[in-house]
Amino acid sequence: MKNKPCKNVVVMGAGPAGLSAAYQLSKNDIKVKVFEAQNQVGGISKTIVKNGFRFDLGGHRWFTKIDELDKLVKKLLGRQLIEVYRTSRIFFDGRYFDYPIKISNVLKGLGFWKSTKVVLSYLLVRIKYRLNPKPLKTFEDWTIANFGYVLYSYFFKTYTEKLWGIPCRQIGAQWAAQRIKGLSLSSAIRNALIPAKSKPKTLIDKFLYPKFGIGRICERLAEEIKKHNNQIALMTTVKQVNHKNGKIISVIVEEKTGGAIKTREIAADQFISSIPLTQLIRILTSAAPQAIIDASKKLTYRALITVHIIIDRPQITSDTWVYIHDSAAGLGRLHEPKNWSKYMVANQNQSSLVCELWCQENDEVWRKNDSQLIKLVMKDLTEVMNFITIEDVVDAFVVRTSKAYPVYKIGYQKPLKIIQEYLSRFENLQLVGRYGTYKYNNMDHSILGGLWAAKNIILGKRIYDLEQINADLEYHEEKQN
Ligand SMILES: Cc1cc2nc3c(=O)[nH]c(=O)nc-3n(C[C@H](O)[C@H](O)[C@H](O)COP(=O)(O)OP(=O)(O)OC[C@H]3O[C@@H](n4cnc5c(N)ncnc54)[C@H](O)[C@@H]3O)c2cc1C
Repeated sequence: MKNKPCKNVVVMGAGPAGLSAAYQLSKNDIKVKVFEAQNQVGGISKTIVKNGFRFDLGGHRWFTKIDELDKLVKKLLGRQLIEVYRTSRIFFDGRYFDYPIKISNVLKGLGFWKSTKVVLSYLLVRIKYRLNPKPLKTFEDWTIANFGYVLYSYFFKTYTEKLWGIPCRQIGAQWAAQRIKGLSLSSAIRNALIPAKSKPKTLIDKFLYPKFGIGRICERLAEEIKKHNNQIALMTTVKQVNHKNGKIISVIVEEKTGGAIKTREIAADQFISSIPLTQLIRILTSAAPQAIIDASKKLTYRALITVHIIIDRPQITSDTWVYIHDSAAGLGRLHEPKNWSKYMVANQNQSSLVCELWCQENDEVWRKNDSQLIKLVMKDLTEVMNFITIEDVVDAFVVRTSKAYPVYKIGYQKPLKIIQEYLSRFENLQLVGRYGTYKYNNMDHSILGGLWAAKNIILGKRIYDLEQINADLEYHEEKQN
């Protein structure tokens, strides 16, 4: 990027990443146009409103370790931010267990025989690794080494495979090390026998949440962008990205208004993309080399189907989330929005649930119609979990998200690197966001990426290295007690 004043910027996608870039540029009086395929801003972090009930696409809490971002969100939302205490449980074997798992609670809940099996299998695996140490390459290796096979099969295998849709031996050990660090059975037993000097790391037990739903963060960013007379074009999909001599020169967008489709070409000095990396590769014109297209086919995403249900009962659970590890249920996770904020329901006599199903785009679950999906979820809720009855249901609807999780299958880094190297040749293109960079970002990572990309444009130099965002292995939910 040269030290040349930038006159206008195109931002692709109006999720947290794209909007925070446009926000920062707007504040610095740079002209920016944001193009968003959906009919509202927020991406995966949006809040949908139906009959006065508000629904996130799976509960989203706001948390960050980066002060600048915390200050930004507090400035944007002010008194709309509320503090929520987290109490979550795991549903397994017809019973509930604490989340994050506590070994004492698990052993008590499982009963004598299953608990004995857990402890014996753990001792066995420790002896095995002591006699024959071997590197922990996969999620399965890491979890079995830390918990034993029995606890792994009860509390990690089913849930992880439901989420990712691939066997745990195809997922890298880093993922386990990052997500479940500090929860090993040995440290739990050790802590029970010898009181620890410092408490182990736990997952945060309270968080901030906008009282009208997580989508308010993006809605507030959008309001600020518009105050600076910058445009956010909804229902407008970037269909083509044109380049010449190592620079992006324009995008072709398709705008849907009523029944009509209008196509326009928009030129700009600088481009920020938060649309899925694999999609960007496919819409480059002239086309990316075949090797790059082949590499992009190796990166896959897990899809999310959320079934949103309005229920004629004042409250169904006391939980923030319920994680469904039980293999009898197809459901992965659910939450009751009212437990996050009472403003998420239209009236206090009723409540609602958001139920998450994970699948592949176009697999048999994805292809089910809405009423089949609602039936599937209702079967889990009524028969497997005994949560509600059919008579409780007032209304239900389905939302499909084709790209919800970039899949960290073993070996994904190689094709990703090939794509990153190819795209880095475009001197006026920056990649941000969860799908734009193919990183398992939380909102704060995406917002930071957007802000940094904008600052690079404002400064006229690539001072901020976007690749450093969400690059460490520390799980961003951890805190030291
Ligand atoms: C179930 C679930 C729960 C989560 N919970 C949390 C949580 O509790 N806390 C947290 O911090 N994070 C959470 N996350 C992560 C959070 O949703 C993401 O980090 C965040 O939304 C990513 O923002 P983004 O801008 O990078 O991408 P997105 O939110 O996906 O935004 C990208 C936007 O680009 C648009 N787009 C795509 N293609 C085109 C195109 N061709 N033209 C125009 N527009 C296009 C999309 O429609 C979308 O609006 C959760 C994610 C999931 C799936």
